Amino acid sequence: MKHYTEADLLETYYTEPGQSLPVMMHLADCADCAARYERLDQKIRALGACEHKPRSFWARGRDAIAGAFAKWRRG
Ligand SMILES: [Zn+2]
Repeated sequence: MKHYTEADLLETYYTEPGQSLPVMMHLADCADCAARYERLDQKIRALGACEHKPRSFWARGRDAIAGAFAKWRRG
């Protein structure tokens, strides 16, 4: 299985939802990468507090991956 580095996830953070979908699907199945992404998300939010705020990747991708992610959270 291919895993995503923090750099990969950072790039994904700013891509369009359609392009990031494969990554989101991976995050739904991979707790390691999901945890890495959550840490990155928190860092970006902290940085964004004093600059323009990028629209949340979770918010943009939520509709597309809601089903898969809910499934992952239920285990
Ligand atoms: Zn992974």
